[in-house]
Amino acid sequence: MKKLILIGGGHAHVEVLRQFGLQPPADVEITLVSPDRHTPYSGMLPGLIAGHYTFEQCHIDLQPLAAAAGARHLPANAQALNATQRVVTLSDGSKLDYDVASINVGSTPVVQGVEGAAQHAIMVKPVAGFLTHWATLIERVRAGSVTSIVVVGGGAAGVEMLLAMQHYFAKQTPRQSVEYGLVTDAPQLLAQHTSGVRAVLTRNLARKRVAVHCGLRVSRVEAQALIAMNAANIEQRIKGDAIVWVTGAAPPAWLSHCDLNLNDKKFININNNLQSTSHSAVFAVGDCATIAGAAYPKSGVYAVRQGPILSHNLRAALSGTVLQMYTPQPRALALISTGERHAIASWGPLALHGNWVWRWKDSIDRAFMARYCG
Ligand SMILES: Cc1cc2nc3c(=O)[nH]c(=O)nc-3n(C[C@H](O)[C@H](O)[C@H](O)COP(=O)(O)OP(=O)(O)OC[C@H]3O[C@@H](n4cnc5c(N)ncnc54)[C@H](O)[C@@H]3O)c2cc1C
Repeated sequence: MKKLILIGGGHAHVEVLRQFGLQPPADVEITLVSPDRHTPYSGMLPGLIAGHYTFEQCHIDLQPLAAAAGARHLPANAQALNATQRVVTLSDGSKLDYDVASINVGSTPVVQGVEGAAQHAIMVKPVAGFLTHWATLIERVRAGSVTSIVVVGGGAAGVEMLLAMQHYFAKQTPRQSVEYGLVTDAPQLLAQHTSGVRAVLTRNLARKRVAVHCGLRVSRVEAQALIAMNAANIEQRIKGDAIVWVTGAAPPAWLSHCDLNLNDKKFININNNLQSTSHSAVFAVGDCATIAGAAYPKSGVYAVRQGPILSHNLRAALSGTVLQMYTPQPRALALISTGERHAIASWGPLALHGNWVWRWKDSIDRAFMARYCG
């Protein structure tokens, strides 16, 4: 009996579990290591915060998926991996040996040693932790103890989360006045998108009176403010009773303690077969891994596309047959929600927006969830 360990319940692993459920591999003991029973679908997270979706609508229950695939679910975090000895150490101290391991543990927001950020800011990931803070934030706004919210991060996720929170509070606590700010060290918002997308969003943010601060690098976070420097090294203090951290993707810290080959940013180096470049019995996908030499963003759509190839390759690695190649798509459609049931589509040079784009995004997201929650 061969042993397969799936570390993390990310977008690719849910597809592996689904496919193994349809056709379980013979003579393989499968273990899924994931701290939570419900794994979030981040594309719908802004919709959950805005109040458009329930928790269940945007979380995949791993337990039935694992059960159908004949896998046991261990509710723990992996915290070390010795790929030379083929042993994974879990947060409860237990050790698991394997023949093949696959890592799909996502990423965390970039903090880069900003003083006070870990203590005072609310991190968007892990999502389970964020949702606990969100419940507290709702109470604090209701009680009037939060009158300003600042999001750090000027990518699509940061803008979506800010507008989603604003939409929620405008509907649910209309008598409480809250000011909103967005801070990014980039010279402009949504650096990865075209000027057309930026123009639509900038108008949207201006109409909703969001104070946008570009080109400001946060150096310190305090209990009710952040301190940031502009390009001329002049310090600014921005008030924020709640500071929400939605910066780009950084690798989970524990990967640095593994003996896997990592790139300069400490993501796992993989080849086009989705295998570690140093240890062929380890596969890694999604945000936590990067194909050496390929440039593509840390975005869920890539993890989703890797799922079917990973599923094939894990079977192949266990049975000694031929692996498939994965090539990242040159561009991906981004559907960026703006709080209310309205969204912007960004596809290469195209920028389209309207309530119909939100309905389109909603149907894509619901179809994705239906695959795993049937
Ligand atoms: C607000 C927001 C909105 C976004 N919207 C979009 C979007 O619309 N489209 C898009 O393409 N991307 C979007 N993204 C980016 C997207 O979240 C990531 O690119 C995507 O989640 C990466 O998927 P993944 O499969 O690598 O990992 P994740 O989906 O992050 O899954 C990782 C899993 O691993 C588990 N895990 C973590 N650490 C461990 C550990 N040590 N041991 C075991 N298990 C562990 C976690 O609990 C989780 O279940 C958004 C991000 C944010 C923050």
